[in-house]
Amino acid sequence: MLSVKNLSKSFDGNTILREISLDVAAGETTVILGPSGSGKSTLLRCLNLLETPELGQLSIEGDTVDFGTDLTDEQVRTIRQHSAMVFQNFNLFPHLTAQQNVALAPVLNGKKSKAEAKKLAGQLLAKVGLEHKADAYPDNLSGGQQQRVAIARALAVAPDYLLFDEPTSALDPELEAEVIQVLMGLAAEKRSLVVVTHNMAFARRVADRIIFLDGGTVAYNGAPAGFFASDHARIQRFLQIFE
Ligand code: ATP
Ligand code: MG
Repeated sequence: MLSVKNLSKSFDGNTILREISLDVAAGETTVILGPSGSGKSTLLRCLNLLETPELGQLSIEGDTVDFGTDLTDEQVRTIRQHSAMVFQNFNLFPHLTAQQNVALAPVLNGKKSKAEAKKLAGQLLAKVGLEHKADAYPDNLSGGQQQRVAIARALAVAPDYLLFDEPTSALDPELEAEVIQVLMGLAAEKRSLVVVTHNMAFARRVADRIIFLDGGTVAYNGAPAGFFASDHARIQRFLQIFE
């Protein structure tokens, strides 16, 4: 279980997230929706402490931190080991091959030997359909292939939660589909996924839970069916954009 209580985050005196409370169940796909600027990326970044909230509490798989006092490096490490993030722009290391990108973190964090990490990277690249691209550099891969390498890289640290921030927004529809296929595979395996996306088909078909952010607060938290049938004016206005 990942649990957020009364989490608040501001930038330069502007409150971006306002006393957010929510639970993300393990084994589920949670989709975060909301208009541009509603705080989706900020919330996701708070979950792995890329941003530090001013107030509130974050608890992942039994490890809890209270914001409002300075966190120790040990607390930050403990929380971070529970998740891995996939970004909109892939963020692969350009000077490393696909396989080296995937193998790096497990070696750096001391969990795997170089040989073990290389083997794991091969398996994870096969899982995302890229075993034939192990020795390719990011520049020689399509956007969809780069994002699939980034997903393999995130899987390599065996995170409890995979966090995706608009993983397909930089991709043409055809390439988007191949990344969505990989996400659907992970969802079918009952991995714990938190996905910020504007892909409504994915939200409708794959999400177990939808969280709709509006102006830094949770305006909906529940089943997809209820969200897509909502008569809440703000949600209807949001959905009209995608019709
Ligand atoms: P989008 O759909 O466009 O990605 P979002 O819902 O992910 O939007 P955030 O990126 O979380 O929104 O941003 C929420 C608000 O916080 C915006 O007003 C943004 O300008 C502000 N913000 C985000 N990061 C910072 C920062 N590092 N410094 C100052 N303001 C920030
Ligand atoms: Mg964002």
